[in-house]
Amino acid sequence: PAEKRVAVVTGGNKGLGLEICKQLAANGVTVVLTARSEERGAGAAAALRQLGLSEVLFHQFDVSEPSSAAGLADFIKHKFGKLDILVNNAGILGVTFDFGNLDLNKAIEGKSANETLEWLMQHTVETAENAEECLKINYHGNKKTIQALLPLLQSSPDGRIVTVSSVFGQLSFFSGEKLKEELNDFSKLSEERIDELAELFVRDFKDGELESRGWPARADAFAAYKTSKALQHAYTRVLARKHASSSSPLRVNCVHPGYVKTDMTLGTGELTVEEGAAGPVALALSPPGGATGVFFIQTEPASFV
Ligand code: NDP
Repeated sequence: PAEKRVAVVTGGNKGLGLEICKQLAANGVTVVLTARSEERGAGAAAALRQLGLSEVLFHQFDVSEPSSAAGLADFIKHKFGKLDILVNNAGILGVTFDFGNLDLNKAIEGKSANETLEWLMQHTVETAENAEECLKINYHGNKKTIQALLPLLQSSPDGRIVTVSSVFGQLSFFSGEKLKEELNDFSKLSEERIDELAELFVRDFKDGELESRGWPARADAFAAYKTSKALQHAYTRVLARKHASSSSPLRVNCVHPGYVKTDMTLGTGELTVEEGAAGPVALALSPPGGATGVFFIQTEPASFV
Protein backbone atom coordinates (compact mmCIF):
# COMPACT_ATOMS: atom_id res chain seq x y z
CA PRO A 1 0.00 0.00 0.00
CA ALA A 2 0.98 3.65 -0.57
CA GLU A 3 2.98 5.24 2.26
CA LYS A 4 1.26 8.61 2.28
CA ARG A 5 -2.33 8.96 3.40
CA VAL A 6 -4.79 8.78 0.53
CA ALA A 7 -8.11 10.65 0.45
CA VAL A 8 -11.13 10.58 -1.84
CA VAL A 9 -13.33 13.68 -1.95
CA THR A 10 -16.68 13.61 -3.78
CA GLY A 11 -17.99 16.71 -5.55
CA GLY A 12 -14.44 18.07 -5.58
CA ASN A 13 -14.71 20.33 -8.59
CA LYS A 14 -15.99 23.42 -6.77
CA GLY A 15 -17.23 24.93 -3.54
CA LEU A 16 -16.42 23.19 -0.27
CA GLY A 17 -15.25 19.99 -1.99
CA LEU A 18 -12.57 21.78 -3.96
CA GLU A 19 -11.35 23.64 -0.88
CA ILE A 20 -11.29 20.40 1.15
CA CYS A 21 -9.11 18.84 -1.58
CA LYS A 22 -6.81 21.85 -1.44
CA GLN A 23 -6.41 21.81 2.34
CA LEU A 24 -5.88 18.03 2.52
CA ALA A 25 -3.24 18.18 -0.22
CA ALA A 26 -1.55 21.12 1.53
CA ASN A 27 -1.30 18.83 4.58
CA GLY A 28 0.60 16.14 2.72
CA VAL A 29 -2.32 13.88 1.80
CA THR A 30 -2.57 12.36 -1.69
CA VAL A 31 -5.98 13.51 -2.89
CA VAL A 32 -8.23 11.88 -5.43
CA LEU A 33 -10.48 14.75 -6.43
CA THR A 34 -13.65 13.27 -7.90
CA ALA A 35 -16.42 14.98 -9.85
CA ARG A 36 -19.31 13.88 -12.03
CA SER A 37 -18.07 16.05 -14.89
CA GLU A 38 -14.82 14.94 -16.48
CA GLU A 39 -14.18 18.44 -17.74
CA ARG A 40 -14.94 20.37 -14.53
CA GLY A 41 -13.13 17.82 -12.36
CA ALA A 42 -9.98 17.48 -14.45
CA GLY A 43 -9.81 21.28 -14.70
CA ALA A 44 -10.14 21.71 -10.93
CA ALA A 45 -7.43 19.09 -10.22
CA ALA A 46 -5.10 20.74 -12.75
CA ALA A 47 -5.69 24.13 -11.09
CA LEU A 48 -4.65 22.69 -7.69
CA ARG A 49 -1.52 21.12 -9.21
CA GLN A 50 -0.70 24.53 -10.68
CA LEU A 51 -0.63 25.84 -7.12
CA GLY A 52 2.13 23.34 -6.37
CA LEU A 53 -0.16 20.67 -4.92
CA SER A 54 1.29 17.95 -7.12
CA GLU A 55 -0.37 15.07 -5.23
CA VAL A 56 -3.87 15.84 -6.50
CA LEU A 57 -5.30 13.59 -9.16
CA PHE A 58 -8.69 13.38 -10.76
CA HIS A 59 -11.11 10.50 -11.17
CA GLN A 60 -14.58 10.85 -12.68
CA PHE A 61 -17.28 9.83 -10.22
CA ASP A 62 -21.01 10.45 -10.15
CA VAL A 63 -22.34 9.43 -6.73
CA SER A 64 -25.78 8.68 -8.16
CA GLU A 65 -24.41 6.31 -10.82
CA PRO A 66 -24.28 2.80 -9.30
CA SER A 67 -21.62 1.44 -11.65
CA SER A 68 -19.43 4.47 -11.03
CA ALA A 69 -18.61 3.56 -7.40
CA ALA A 70 -17.20 0.15 -8.33
CA GLY A 71 -14.99 1.83 -10.94
CA LEU A 72 -13.67 4.28 -8.35
CA ALA A 73 -12.95 1.51 -5.84
CA ASP A 74 -11.08 -0.42 -8.51
CA PHE A 75 -9.01 2.61 -9.42
CA ILE A 76 -8.02 3.28 -5.77
CA LYS A 77 -7.25 -0.38 -5.15
CA HIS A 78 -4.88 -0.68 -8.10
CA LYS A 79 -3.26 2.71 -7.68
CA PHE A 80 -2.83 2.81 -3.88
CA GLY A 81 -3.94 -0.51 -2.37
CA LYS A 82 -5.80 1.31 0.43
CA LEU A 83 -7.85 4.36 1.31
CA ASP A 84 -7.38 6.38 4.51
CA ILE A 85 -9.95 9.17 4.20
CA LEU A 86 -13.30 9.43 2.44
CA VAL A 87 -14.95 12.85 2.41
CA ASN A 88 -18.57 12.54 1.29
CA ASN A 89 -19.14 16.09 0.19
CA ALA A 90 -21.22 15.87 -3.01
CA GLY A 91 -24.73 17.12 -2.51
CA ILE A 92 -27.62 19.14 -3.91
CA LEU A 93 -30.22 21.35 -2.28
CA GLY A 94 -33.06 19.77 -4.23
CA VAL A 95 -34.97 22.97 -4.92
CA THR A 96 -35.13 25.68 -7.53
CA PHE A 97 -35.32 29.33 -6.61
CA ASP A 98 -38.04 31.64 -7.86
CA PHE A 99 -37.45 35.30 -7.12
CA GLY A 100 -40.12 36.53 -9.51
CA ASN A 101 -38.95 39.93 -10.68
CA LEU A 102 -36.96 40.62 -7.52
CA ASP A 103 -33.21 41.06 -7.62
CA LEU A 104 -31.45 38.75 -5.13
CA ASN A 105 -28.68 41.16 -4.20
CA LYS A 106 -31.09 44.04 -3.63
CA ALA A 107 -33.49 41.85 -1.70
CA ILE A 108 -30.86 40.65 0.78
CA GLU A 109 -29.06 43.97 1.17
CA GLY A 110 -28.69 44.79 4.86
CA LYS A 111 -30.06 41.40 5.96
CA SER A 112 -28.22 39.23 8.49
CA ALA A 113 -27.11 35.72 7.46
CA ASN A 114 -30.15 34.19 9.17
CA GLU A 115 -32.53 36.66 7.57
CA THR A 116 -30.95 35.99 4.17
CA LEU A 117 -31.38 32.25 4.55
CA GLU A 118 -34.94 32.75 5.70
CA TRP A 119 -35.63 34.93 2.64
CA LEU A 120 -34.08 32.37 0.30
CA MET A 121 -36.19 29.63 1.85
CA GLN A 122 -39.34 31.62 1.16
CA HIS A 123 -38.46 31.70 -2.53
CA THR A 124 -37.95 28.01 -3.26
CA VAL A 125 -39.91 25.58 -5.38
CA GLU A 126 -39.64 21.88 -4.61
CA THR A 127 -41.21 19.32 -6.93
CA ALA A 128 -41.48 15.57 -6.41
CA GLU A 129 -38.74 15.12 -9.02
CA ASN A 130 -36.48 17.52 -7.08
CA ALA A 131 -37.17 15.60 -3.88
CA GLU A 132 -36.43 12.20 -5.41
CA GLU A 133 -33.19 13.48 -6.97
CA CYS A 134 -32.14 14.99 -3.66
CA LEU A 135 -32.57 11.68 -1.83
CA LYS A 136 -30.88 9.86 -4.68
CA ILE A 137 -27.73 11.97 -4.49
CA ASN A 138 -27.50 13.04 -0.84
CA TYR A 139 -28.64 9.84 0.81
CA HIS A 140 -28.43 6.87 -1.58
CA GLY A 141 -25.37 8.20 -3.44
CA ASN A 142 -23.53 8.93 -0.22
CA LYS A 143 -24.33 5.48 1.13
CA LYS A 144 -23.31 3.65 -2.06
CA THR A 145 -20.02 5.54 -2.10
CA ILE A 146 -19.30 4.46 1.46
CA GLN A 147 -20.24 0.85 0.74
CA ALA A 148 -18.03 0.63 -2.34
CA LEU A 149 -15.01 2.12 -0.57
CA LEU A 150 -15.49 0.46 2.84
CA PRO A 151 -13.18 -2.55 2.21
CA LEU A 152 -10.37 -0.17 1.19
CA LEU A 153 -10.96 2.05 4.22
CA GLN A 154 -10.79 -1.02 6.42
CA SER A 155 -7.35 -1.84 5.10
CA SER A 156 -6.06 1.52 6.39
CA PRO A 157 -4.59 1.55 9.91
CA ASP A 158 -6.65 4.68 10.60
CA GLY A 159 -9.54 4.80 8.15
CA ARG A 160 -12.12 7.52 8.47
CA ILE A 161 -15.29 8.65 6.79
CA VAL A 162 -16.32 12.29 6.97
CA THR A 163 -19.76 13.13 5.64
CA VAL A 164 -20.49 16.79 5.00
CA SER A 165 -24.05 17.03 6.28
CA SER A 166 -25.99 19.98 7.66
CA VAL A 167 -27.79 21.42 10.66
CA PHE A 168 -30.85 20.99 8.44
CA GLY A 169 -30.47 17.26 9.14
CA GLN A 170 -31.23 17.77 12.82
CA LEU A 171 -34.37 15.95 13.92
CA SER A 172 -36.00 19.13 15.25
CA PHE A 173 -37.22 19.73 11.68
CA PHE A 174 -39.37 16.58 11.86
CA SER A 175 -42.86 17.02 13.28
CA GLY A 176 -43.57 13.36 14.05
CA GLU A 177 -42.38 12.26 17.49
CA LYS A 178 -42.39 8.56 16.56
CA LEU A 179 -40.34 9.15 13.43
CA LYS A 180 -37.91 11.33 15.36
CA GLU A 181 -37.55 8.68 18.03
CA GLU A 182 -36.98 5.97 15.46
CA LEU A 183 -34.30 7.96 13.67
CA ASN A 184 -32.62 8.82 16.94
CA ASP A 185 -32.56 5.27 18.31
CA PHE A 186 -29.63 3.99 16.30
CA SER A 187 -29.23 0.92 18.50
CA LYS A 188 -32.45 -0.42 16.95
CA LEU A 189 -32.20 1.18 13.51
CA SER A 190 -30.93 -0.94 10.62
CA GLU A 191 -29.49 0.07 7.25
CA GLU A 192 -32.47 -1.59 5.56
CA ARG A 193 -34.92 0.43 7.62
CA ILE A 194 -33.18 3.70 6.71
CA ASP A 195 -33.48 2.75 3.02
CA GLU A 196 -37.13 1.98 3.59
CA LEU A 197 -37.67 5.37 5.24
CA ALA A 198 -36.05 7.05 2.22
CA GLU A 199 -38.58 5.31 -0.04
CA LEU A 200 -41.45 6.20 2.27
CA PHE A 201 -40.44 9.86 2.22
CA VAL A 202 -40.53 10.00 -1.58
CA ARG A 203 -43.92 8.29 -1.62
CA ASP A 204 -45.35 10.58 1.07
CA PHE A 205 -43.99 13.62 -0.79
CA LYS A 206 -45.81 12.52 -3.96
CA ASP A 207 -49.00 11.85 -2.00
CA GLY A 208 -48.87 15.25 -0.28
CA GLU A 209 -48.59 13.48 3.09
CA LEU A 210 -45.32 14.87 4.43
CA GLU A 211 -46.77 16.72 7.40
CA SER A 212 -49.32 14.08 8.34
CA ARG A 213 -46.56 11.46 8.43
CA GLY A 214 -44.17 13.55 10.51
CA TRP A 215 -41.56 14.53 7.91
CA PRO A 216 -40.15 18.05 7.61
CA ALA A 217 -42.97 20.14 6.14
CA ARG A 218 -42.81 21.11 2.48
CA ALA A 219 -44.10 24.59 3.32
CA ASP A 220 -41.04 25.18 5.53
CA ALA A 221 -38.71 24.60 2.53
CA PHE A 222 -35.90 22.08 1.92
CA ALA A 223 -38.09 19.11 2.96
CA ALA A 224 -36.06 16.61 0.93
CA TYR A 225 -32.72 18.20 1.82
CA LYS A 226 -33.54 18.06 5.54
CA THR A 227 -34.69 14.45 5.25
CA SER A 228 -31.68 13.40 3.16
CA LYS A 229 -29.27 14.90 5.68
CA ALA A 230 -31.15 13.33 8.62
CA LEU A 231 -30.91 9.94 6.89
CA GLN A 232 -27.17 10.53 6.31
CA HIS A 233 -26.90 11.14 10.06
CA ALA A 234 -28.80 7.96 10.87
CA TYR A 235 -26.64 5.91 8.51
CA THR A 236 -23.47 7.45 9.98
CA ARG A 237 -24.53 6.40 13.46
CA VAL A 238 -25.52 2.87 12.48
CA LEU A 239 -22.24 2.38 10.62
CA ALA A 240 -20.13 3.88 13.41
CA ARG A 241 -21.78 1.63 15.94
CA LYS A 242 -21.19 -1.45 13.81
CA HIS A 243 -17.49 -0.66 13.45
CA ALA A 244 -16.96 0.52 17.02
CA SER A 245 -18.02 -2.89 18.24
CA SER A 246 -15.60 -4.70 15.94
CA SER A 247 -11.82 -4.54 16.08
CA SER A 248 -11.83 -2.11 13.12
CA PRO A 249 -10.30 1.31 13.83
CA LEU A 250 -12.68 2.90 11.29
CA ARG A 251 -14.22 6.18 12.43
CA VAL A 252 -17.36 7.61 10.88
CA ASN A 253 -18.58 11.15 11.56
CA CYS A 254 -20.58 13.92 9.96
CA VAL A 255 -20.13 17.65 10.04
CA HIS A 256 -22.00 20.87 9.32
CA PRO A 257 -19.52 23.24 7.69
CA GLY A 258 -21.38 26.45 8.63
CA TYR A 259 -23.38 28.70 6.27
CA VAL A 260 -20.85 29.01 3.48
CA LYS A 261 -20.66 31.17 0.36
CA THR A 262 -20.86 28.65 -2.50
CA ASP A 263 -23.03 28.06 -5.57
CA MET A 264 -25.42 26.05 -3.40
CA THR A 265 -26.19 29.13 -1.32
CA LEU A 266 -26.10 31.42 -4.40
CA GLY A 267 -23.02 33.06 -2.96
CA THR A 268 -24.78 34.08 0.27
CA GLY A 269 -23.56 32.86 3.66
CA GLU A 270 -21.38 34.02 6.50
CA LEU A 271 -18.25 31.93 5.91
CA THR A 272 -15.73 31.69 3.09
CA VAL A 273 -15.00 28.22 1.69
CA GLU A 274 -11.64 28.32 3.51
CA GLU A 275 -13.48 28.74 6.83
CA GLY A 276 -16.20 26.24 5.89
CA ALA A 277 -13.71 23.52 4.95
CA ALA A 278 -12.01 23.75 8.36
CA GLY A 279 -14.46 21.43 10.15
CA PRO A 280 -14.41 18.59 7.58
CA VAL A 281 -10.62 18.87 7.22
CA ALA A 282 -10.07 18.82 11.02
CA LEU A 283 -12.08 15.58 11.23
CA ALA A 284 -10.23 14.07 8.27
CA LEU A 285 -6.85 14.84 9.82
CA SER A 286 -7.56 14.41 13.53
CA PRO A 287 -5.21 12.07 15.43
CA PRO A 288 -6.15 8.36 15.65
CA GLY A 289 -8.60 7.13 18.25
CA GLY A 290 -10.99 10.10 18.37
CA ALA A 291 -14.75 10.41 18.08
CA THR A 292 -16.95 8.15 15.98
CA GLY A 293 -20.68 8.37 15.28
CA VAL A 294 -20.66 12.07 16.15
CA PHE A 295 -22.23 15.10 14.44
CA PHE A 296 -20.06 18.21 14.51
CA ILE A 297 -21.06 21.79 13.85
CA GLN A 298 -17.82 23.09 12.38
CA THR A 299 -15.32 21.73 14.94
CA GLU A 300 -17.65 21.27 17.93
CA PRO A 301 -19.64 18.11 18.76
CA ALA A 302 -23.37 18.84 18.44
CA SER A 303 -26.78 17.22 18.90
CA PHE A 304 -28.41 15.04 16.24
CA VAL A 305 -31.77 16.28 17.53
P1 NDP B 1 -21.80 23.39 -4.41
O1 NDP B 1 -23.10 23.42 -5.09
O2 NDP B 1 -20.84 24.50 -4.59
O3 NDP B 1 -21.03 22.03 -4.71
C1 NDP B 1 -21.69 20.81 -4.72
C2 NDP B 1 -20.77 19.78 -5.31
O4 NDP B 1 -21.44 18.51 -5.34
C3 NDP B 1 -20.38 20.09 -6.76
O5 NDP B 1 -19.06 19.71 -6.98
C4 NDP B 1 -21.33 19.22 -7.55
O6 NDP B 1 -20.88 18.90 -8.84
C5 NDP B 1 -21.32 18.00 -6.65
N1 NDP B 1 -22.37 17.04 -7.01
C6 NDP B 1 -23.70 17.22 -7.08
N2 NDP B 1 -24.30 16.09 -7.49
C7 NDP B 1 -23.33 15.18 -7.70
C8 NDP B 1 -23.30 13.83 -8.14
N3 NDP B 1 -24.42 13.17 -8.48
N4 NDP B 1 -22.11 13.18 -8.21
C9 NDP B 1 -20.97 13.82 -7.89
N5 NDP B 1 -20.92 15.10 -7.49
C10 NDP B 1 -22.09 15.77 -7.40
O7 NDP B 1 -22.19 23.26 -2.84
P2 NDP B 1 -21.33 23.30 -1.49
O8 NDP B 1 -19.89 23.27 -1.77
O9 NDP B 1 -21.91 24.37 -0.67
O10 NDP B 1 -21.80 21.92 -0.83
C11 NDP B 1 -20.95 20.86 -0.49
C12 NDP B 1 -21.61 20.06 0.63
O11 NDP B 1 -21.75 20.88 1.78
C13 NDP B 1 -23.01 19.55 0.29
O12 NDP B 1 -23.17 18.23 0.75
C14 NDP B 1 -23.90 20.50 1.07
O13 NDP B 1 -25.13 19.91 1.40
C15 NDP B 1 -23.06 20.76 2.29
N6 NDP B 1 -23.40 21.97 3.03
C16 NDP B 1 -23.20 23.22 2.48
C17 NDP B 1 -23.54 24.35 3.20
C18 NDP B 1 -23.30 25.73 2.68
O14 NDP B 1 -23.67 26.70 3.37
N7 NDP B 1 -22.74 25.91 1.51
C19 NDP B 1 -24.13 24.25 4.55
C20 NDP B 1 -24.31 22.90 5.02
C21 NDP B 1 -23.94 21.82 4.28
P3 NDP B 1 -21.38 19.72 -10.17
O15 NDP B 1 -20.49 20.93 -10.25
O16 NDP B 1 -21.18 18.74 -11.25
O17 NDP B 1 -22.82 20.06 -9.94
